[in-house]
Amino acid sequence: MVSVAVTLGRSAPAGAPGASSASVSSCDARLAGEPFALDAMPGLPAPAPEYGPGASVVDTAPAHTPVQQQIPERYRRMQADEVHARVRAAKAELGSSVVVLGHHYQRDEVIEHADVTGDSFLLARRSLERPEAKYVVFCGVHFMAETADLLTRLDQAVVLPNLAAGCSMADMADLDSVQDCWDQLEAAIGRPLDVPGEDGLVEVVPVTYMNSSAAIKAFCGEHGGIVCTSSNATAVLTWAFARGRRVLFVPDQHLGRNTAKAMGVPADLMPLWDPRKPMGGNSVQALVDSRVLLWRGWCSVHQRFTTAQIDAARAADPSVQVVVHPECPQAVVDAADQAGSTEFIIKAVEAAPAGSSLAIGTEINLVRRLADAHPDKTITCLDPVICPCSTMYRIHPGYLAWVLESLAERERGRSAGIPEAELGPVVNRVVVDDESAAHARTALERMLAVVP
Ligand code: SF4
Repeated sequence: MVSVAVTLGRSAPAGAPGASSASVSSCDARLAGEPFALDAMPGLPAPAPEYGPGASVVDTAPAHTPVQQQIPERYRRMQADEVHARVRAAKAELGSSVVVLGHHYQRDEVIEHADVTGDSFLLARRSLERPEAKYVVFCGVHFMAETADLLTRLDQAVVLPNLAAGCSMADMADLDSVQDCWDQLEAAIGRPLDVPGEDGLVEVVPVTYMNSSAAIKAFCGEHGGIVCTSSNATAVLTWAFARGRRVLFVPDQHLGRNTAKAMGVPADLMPLWDPRKPMGGNSVQALVDSRVLLWRGWCSVHQRFTTAQIDAARAADPSVQVVVHPECPQAVVDAADQAGSTEFIIKAVEAAPAGSSLAIGTEINLVRRLADAHPDKTITCLDPVICPCSTMYRIHPGYLAWVLESLAERERGRSAGIPEAELGPVVNRVVVDDESAAHARTALERMLAVVP
C-alpha cells in the first residue's frame, strides 16, 4: 500500500482556530492529489487510468452491469478550468429541464455542480420535487440511479454520468445467487418460504438494503419483502418480524447484524450466508433455527474501520466523540459513541457544541466537507489511511460535462424541430425494465408505508 500525507479540513488555513490538521494517509497516493492529475494521461490511450475518464475502458464489471461507451477523446484531454466552464454553461442552457444530484460521498469537483446533495434515497425522492426536470443527472452509483428511475415519471430520464460507477456492496448480491439461496432455504425448511402458515407467518421475509440492484429489490417485492435504508432499518425489521419467522437480509451483513443485535436478536440466531458455499456454509438446523440470515456482503469503505482506530482516537484526545456508520463491523459500532446513517452523522456534527472533537467513521469526502463546514470543531476521519468510495470516484467532472453537453445538444435539436425519434438516445440513461420496476416499487412502497 502506498501512503501519502494529506490534510483534512482543506479550507481552514493551517494553524487557524479549529483547523483540522490531522495528517493522514491514503490507500492510493494518487487519490490524495488534485483530481484532474489522475487523468493526466500522456500517451493515451494506454495506459488507461484507474479513475476518471477512461477508467471504465479497463474495468472488469460483473456480467449484468451496463457497458460504458467510450467518452469522446476531447473530454479526456480537457483542462480542469475548461471542464468546469462547460459544465456550468451546459447547466445554464438546460435550465430547469435538468437537475444534478450529488451524493454525499462524491468528490468536491462534482459536488460544486450539484443542485441537491444528500444520501441515496433522499436524492431519489428530491428528484420527485423537480417535476419540470426532464433529465435527472445522478452523480452517485448505479443502484442509486436505478432507484431514481423507479421513483421518477416515465417521461423523466435518469442519467448516470459514468455507467461504470457501480457499488461493490450491491454487486455482492446478484439475482442468481439470491434466487439460489432462496431455493436452498426452501429445500432446507421444507415448505414455500413466502406462503403464510396457519399462524399467519411466512417462513422468510426478504429484506434488502437500499444499496442493492433493482433486480434484488424486485425479488423482495415479489416475495413479500421490503427495502430498508440505514435510517429506517429498525422499523423495517420490526415490520418483517411481525410477518415472518425469519428475515433474509441482503446485501450488507453489518447493517443487518448491527440493527438486529440492537433489537435483541442473539448472535447465534444470525448465521452468515456465503453464496459461494453449499447451504451458505450452514447446517440445516442453523438455518431452521435462524432469526436473521445475513448475506455475506459488505461496503469496502466502511469495513475498513476498526476498534484499534477508535482506541487510538481516544488515546489522542479523551474528549473525542466517535460517530460511525452502521455499515461498519459490529465491534466498531459497539465501541463507538454514536452510530447512524449519513444524515444522522451530519446532524450529530451539527449538534455538537463549538470546540468539540469528533472522529467520524464514514467516507472521506463527506468527512472532509464536514470539517470544512465546521471550522469551530475538530473533525477527523477515524481511519488514518483514508479511502474514498472508489466506484463513486468514477464520476469525474469530465463525464458530467459530457452528459450535460449531450443533453443540451438534444434540447437544441428539439427546439429546432427535429422529431423526438431522430434526437438520438439519451447518453448513459439508466432504465429499469418494466417487470422488475413493478416488483421493486412494491418493495419500496412497503418501506414508505412503514416509514413515510
Ligand atoms: S460507500 Fe460502500 S456502499 Fe456506498 S456506494 Fe461506495 S461501496 Fe457502495
